Amino acid sequence: MQNNIEIRNPATGEVDAVIPVITASELDTAVALLKKGQLSWAKVPLQQRLDCIIAFGQLILANKQELAEILTKETGKPITQSLNEIVGAQNRIEHLRTNAVKWLSEELITTTGATHEKIVYEPLGLIANISAWNFPYNVGFNVFLYALVAGNAVLYKPSEFATGTGIQFEKYLYQAGIPQDVFKCVVGDAEIGQQLLELPLDGYFFTGSYKTGLHIATTVAHKLVPVQLELGGKDPLYVADDIVDIKKAAISAAEGAFYNNGQSCCAVERIYVSDKIYDQFVEAFVEEVASYTIGDPMKQDVFIGPLTRAAQLTVLDAQVKDALAKGAILRLGGHTLEDTGYYYAPTVFEHCNHDMELMREESFGPLIGIQKVTSDDEAIHLMQDTTYGLTAAVFSADQDRAMAILEKMNTGTVYWNCCDRVSPNVPWSGRKNSGLGSTLSAQGIRAFVQPKAYHLRP
Ligand code: NAD
Repeated sequence: MQNNIEIRNPATGEVDAVIPVITASELDTAVALLKKGQLSWAKVPLQQRLDCIIAFGQLILANKQELAEILTKETGKPITQSLNEIVGAQNRIEHLRTNAVKWLSEELITTTGATHEKIVYEPLGLIANISAWNFPYNVGFNVFLYALVAGNAVLYKPSEFATGTGIQFEKYLYQAGIPQDVFKCVVGDAEIGQQLLELPLDGYFFTGSYKTGLHIATTVAHKLVPVQLELGGKDPLYVADDIVDIKKAAISAAEGAFYNNGQSCCAVERIYVSDKIYDQFVEAFVEEVASYTIGDPMKQDVFIGPLTRAAQLTVLDAQVKDALAKGAILRLGGHTLEDTGYYYAPTVFEHCNHDMELMREESFGPLIGIQKVTSDDEAIHLMQDTTYGLTAAVFSADQDRAMAILEKMNTGTVYWNCCDRVSPNVPWSGRKNSGLGSTLSAQGIRAFVQPKAYHLRP
């Protein structure tokens, strides 16, 4: 078993910090402590729990520059995007501030007649939040902030690629008044994640890959506790022939595909374009991607930094090789960039088809395939030809036309004239291999409680 996590800077490949991994006995102690702490935390008035989360948000904002640098150093995310994420994730706190009381308070159903009925929303208990590195603020806040407000205790396991950020969450939650026996950041990699599955916990909330998600759901199934999975996607975007501004559509599509180096669960992963505008769209798209500034993610003007994980370079290389062998036309990139750091050139293929890996399996990097279609029906068929079900997008001037396509998508989220977007006001959920359950919205608030029905004869 590994005793330390080495935090490597993806821009250099160098080890920046070494952090001890939690031991098995420390983990057992933490579980006992948090199980007890949760009982007291659940009795703290909801408004007081909420106030701690609001104070946490203010501390995060007050320290955003330092936090952004920590995130950029460990994940390679360009500094402006790290700041965007930190500031943007505050909308989860605002969502809780304005909605938690409404959705967590008890509901009186009948107060007349012989038998009165009401519903009380009780916390689950001690839950595990096993998290990902690509948007640790967004995906972390979706789970541990909502869980804490609902009165749960949380064992938060950050990804081994975002450990520094996870430790900061713990520090500022404690400073904001969350008791130390209610939240614990558990430092470790997959092995520690695996140990969490063996513990007597009351819920598992996971963000990460399909493979790990499936393993977690299977392993903990016998406990019959809530399991939520937010997994990967192969999100399609269809550009219809009636769009008014082709250049604008290309810029927006490229940003959806390449923001955070394509390492977003809802990044645009494949593009279908009507044959009537295909050439114009592809030229505008290639021109836009070619204009991106690549380099040191600490620099303000950099849009494409290194990938977070060195291993993903091999995945991208394999998809490139496969696409070339099957006849796709390489328009940009297709290779690693530097001999230090995990850089991959933004890569655009056209004339792709579904025999190619890059149209079927998550790339999770700066790589996109574009395919020509001759009708909406063909686009619908191809968009649906996937084992994933996270998001799907249509760019069209005609709302009715777009709606007719989006209604047919078996995905948790659909977009008209936008893409790669998450809002706390609506549920975030994946279907098929993209996940189970919802975070955010009223559903996401209620995900961390269990209803108790009262039948009362006064
Ligand atoms: P991953 O599955 O490799 O790891 C995720 C977490 O699981 C990490 O904390 C890891 O240590 C832990 N883990 C690994 N093996 C484990 C095991 N056997 N038992 C318990 N825990 C284990 O995923 P990743 O590379 O960190 O994240 C990238 C993936 O996450 C992509 O597929 C992406 O699409 C997906 N993602 C989805 C969403 C969403 O909201 N749907 C958001 C962000 C990322």
